Amino acid sequence: KVANPVGFLDQSSSPSAHVLVSTFNDVSNWARLSSLWPLLYGTSCCFIEFASLIGSRFDFDRYGLVPRSSPRQADLILTAGTVTMKMAPSLVRLYEQMPEPKYVIAMGACTITGGMFSTDSYSTVRGVDKLIPVDVYLPGCPPKPEAIIDAIVRLRKKVAQESLKQKNSLLQQHRYHTTRHF
Ligand code: SF4
Repeated sequence: KVANPVGFLDQSSSPSAHVLVSTFNDVSNWARLSSLWPLLYGTSCCFIEFASLIGSRFDFDRYGLVPRSSPRQADLILTAGTVTMKMAPSLVRLYEQMPEPKYVIAMGACTITGGMFSTDSYSTVRGVDKLIPVDVYLPGCPPKPEAIIDAIVRLRKKVAQESLKQKNSLLQQHRYHTTRHF
């Protein structure tokens, strides 16, 4: 039988055929999960951990991740660090400029809940999911590079199981808002 390194493509059960059967969706998912290109987006100290991940020690590229500086070339954004009210419209705009299908990893306590700024701050967004739809939450202060890799692996599993139709309908259902709504 043909070896299947990613483990989610269907294979024929007929012993004579030995044919690899896949759907367009499977191939599409495999291509997407193997070439997630993250947008460089760091607003605070969490980004230092992400920056260290890009170095040779962690071999980040083995997952096909190539950091990009333009949202038009990216299909993944890791929101690393505190998101202020002032930055919120820019983040939404960057997200909107990314081509679909696209994904979001919320990295760190500040991004997920506002962190240490979640109670007495008038200037901090208390949860980036109020702005853009989050696919994977990555808690920590800050999360270590190994934890970021774990979040990438979780996202890859999610991409492997979804259909394009499903993803597009989820995006349409989600309502993300500008600063005045939170
Ligand atoms: Fe900095 Fe911790 Fe907030 Fe990350 S979660 S931005 S490390 S204070």
